[in-house]
Amino acid sequence: MRNTKNLPQEEIETVIVGGGISGLACALQLHEAQRPFTLVTDCVGGRLALSDKGHYFGAVMMNNDYIHVKKHAKKSFGNRPWQSYIWDGSKGVNSLLRMEFLKIPKLNKVFGEFNRAFQQLRAQAPYTCQKQLMEQDPLLRKLVSQSAVDFVREHQLESLAEKMLGPVAGAVFLCDWKKMSAFHFCIGISCTGNGACNGDWSDIIKSLTEGYSDKIVNDKALTISELSGGKGYQVHCGSHQYRARNVVLAVPGAAGQALLNSLDASWNTNEQGDDNVEEIPCYVFHITGKRRPLYRPKRSLLMGPNEDIKLFFPLPDGVDVIYSSLAAPDFSRYYENHQVIAQRFWQPAIQLSKQVWRPLQPSSNFFTIGDNNICGLEDSYLTGLFAANKIIEKSNQAIPA
Ligand SMILES: Cc1cc2nc3c(=O)[nH]c(=O)nc-3n(C[C@H](O)[C@H](O)[C@H](O)COP(=O)(O)OP(=O)(O)OC[C@H]3O[C@@H](n4cnc5c(N)ncnc54)[C@H](O)[C@@H]3O)c2cc1C
Repeated sequence: MRNTKNLPQEEIETVIVGGGISGLACALQLHEAQRPFTLVTDCVGGRLALSDKGHYFGAVMMNNDYIHVKKHAKKSFGNRPWQSYIWDGSKGVNSLLRMEFLKIPKLNKVFGEFNRAFQQLRAQAPYTCQKQLMEQDPLLRKLVSQSAVDFVREHQLESLAEKMLGPVAGAVFLCDWKKMSAFHFCIGISCTGNGACNGDWSDIIKSLTEGYSDKIVNDKALTISELSGGKGYQVHCGSHQYRARNVVLAVPGAAGQALLNSLDASWNTNEQGDDNVEEIPCYVFHITGKRRPLYRPKRSLLMGPNEDIKLFFPLPDGVDVIYSSLAAPDFSRYYENHQVIAQRFWQPAIQLSKQVWRPLQPSSNFFTIGDNNICGLEDSYLTGLFAANKIIEKSNQAIPA
């Protein structure tokens, strides 16, 4: 075991571990409320990463309903999801998704109902745990425990799901739509139905860290343990240790679990003891070259779960962003000539929650935020606001009248 005795020790009200969008949202909110905190992270931005040439490594789409994210980022070029092509096994077929949506009243009704319930959850998410909000809403509760396949059958959307809805939902979450819950399926579809564009992340980190960059420590947390007598937590990092009343764990599932040392983390698993989040890894490649005509050069192409490559996504300067489940896919199948100019592996890229969601505040001074329940930038951001608001509320209560 590592000797931490001689590491410098700091006492602080709150330590946030992880500087992705959820940790940064939490930090910014605490900063604006003038609460003391330290943010420890080994990478600022997390899955918002860009390559050194400014191409997307992680998140790309900023959906029209991303109210909080939009305050920090501009829209980028218009790569419209509904203009994508879908691979049908032998060719790419134009999805014309938006038009289909508008033409099919049944789709509007089914996804409209979901959307109303989901936006209501989001509106309350800065103040109430998203798990509690989901459990209170009969429609969302049902969709979280229903499979996408049963949902599609219930609404008689089978043929549309095979041709269009399934590939789109699968591309959003980088997996086979048939393995998703109805909740994720609906999110995948509503991204398209509500409209989305590429996000310009060039200034997002600057905006999310405005005014408090001196409180960000570039370090890795190694363990978190509880101090006796309910005095808070000890966070051991590579070069520092912190004693904090509140800890906000803003790192994805398994990485967070590994830090928890002796802490009870039963909220991490369901009744059978299985992890309640499925982690989906992804290799991202940036490629220049000539795509073969069959693979729709200069267009987005959603390939589906059975192909080595899941998605081709062209950028305006001629670079293709590619998502793959393989470390070394056979690009020559898809390109007449090509060059890999950058690559990155994510574990996880996407988190898919199962039927049991995680509480964001498993104990009164301990928070687990991020995309463990709902994957995506806006919902991760909202979990950061939730943790910060709870901390601010408690510290206000502690001030004597
Ligand atoms: C390829 C890809 C495409 C995506 N596309 C989209 C999209 O188009 N739209 C969308 O909304 N979402 C998209 N997502 C999902 C979205 O990026 C995530 O849901 C969101 O960024 C999660 O933010 P987070 O803060 O919860 O986690 P993260 O961004 O993963 O942040 C966690 C941070 O913690 C740090 N960390 C981990 N362990 C430690 C430790 N021990 N000590 C200190 N720091 C630690 C990590 O380095 C990281 O900086 C995509 C993700 C990927 C990978």
